[in-house]
Amino acid sequence: MEKYEIGLIPGPVKIPEEIRRVWLNDFASSDLEDEFFALYHENQVLIQKLLRTKNNVVITSGEAMSILWASLKCTLKPGEKILAVSSGLFGSGFADMARAIGAYAETCEFPYDEVPEPEKVYEHAKKFRPKVITAVHCETPSGTLTPCLAEIGKIAREVEALFVVDFVSSAGGVELDVDACKIDIGLLGSQKVLSLTPSISISTISPHAWQIINDVNYSGYEAFADWREVPEKKFMPYTHDWHSMKALNISLENIMNEGIDGACARHSEAAKLCRDLGREIGLELFPKSEEICSPTVTAFYVPEKFTWENFNERLRARGLAVGGNYGSLAGKVFRIGHMGSQADSDLVRRGMKIIREVLA
Ligand SMILES: *Cc1c(COP(=O)(O)O)cnc(C)c1O
Repeated sequence: MEKYEIGLIPGPVKIPEEIRRVWLNDFASSDLEDEFFALYHENQVLIQKLLRTKNNVVITSGEAMSILWASLKCTLKPGEKILAVSSGLFGSGFADMARAIGAYAETCEFPYDEVPEPEKVYEHAKKFRPKVITAVHCETPSGTLTPCLAEIGKIAREVEALFVVDFVSSAGGVELDVDACKIDIGLLGSQKVLSLTPSISISTISPHAWQIINDVNYSGYEAFADWREVPEKKFMPYTHDWHSMKALNISLENIMNEGIDGACARHSEAAKLCRDLGREIGLELFPKSEEICSPTVTAFYVPEKFTWENFNERLRARGLAVGGNYGSLAGKVFRIGHMGSQADSDLVRRGMKIIREVLA
């Protein structure tokens, strides 16, 4: 299938036409033109506003995995300790990635249908004394949203660890205050709530994080170091993607015009409708309780009378695309992605109607 009639995949989401039109432009060289650096700076300011932070904002090419790797490679030397707070696949993924670069990782593990408990994180962090603590705001595969980022941030400060947070699939659709949560490195992708191509990534970096980054002195494609003063120095480590930078600007302006509160309310409404309709047609939510469900994605168990493959085939035959799952959740849990352009109650209603038909 090349395109979806009713697309409810939890990223990449449908790209609005206004954004797709950006690619009709014949932009000049991003390395050379003042206009590009002005646009870069404009986006930095909009992101600071969206994420409520005074921290430096770095905008790089590549989809979000590139900055997940960067956040580890730039802050950890071989043998250094990292505590990955995990209630899902992305949470545990941080530990796997850290081990792959030679760091010493422990996981503070919680069931995937729950969210982390700060008390346990505190105990673990005090004993282990990690250099870095990682957490995930929205565990997209589980459809959960961690409500305790600020508490974990406080713990990280107390044990003098750097706090790295993946908010790839939440920010923009969920209220988030990077500074209040004491997030040293925050990571945001483009193909989720921002409804862009998977081509550009955003990192917020605190002064403390910059110190560590300078000390570790990692050099390589994902290195943050040379991005610290891009608009000031008008120099970048590689040719940037002007089309994606422009598309990001439109997406951020759209959120500001709607209002951050308005965008969050639209996501919450779509999510609630999805859960309500799901319950009505007999679907079972994967998260243990409604309070921890993310406004950007809803995870349900695959209905008992189907295998995932069989269920997915029937939905697709009727034009509906939803997300499957990975790892231990593969075949058991499926996801409805109502983030960004897909946080649309009408779209959710149409999708759930098709699921109802397939179940009947
Ligand atoms: C989508 C996503 C990522 C990045 O994965 P991509 O390869 O860019 O799709 C990272 N973390 C979370 C929580 C995500 O949902």
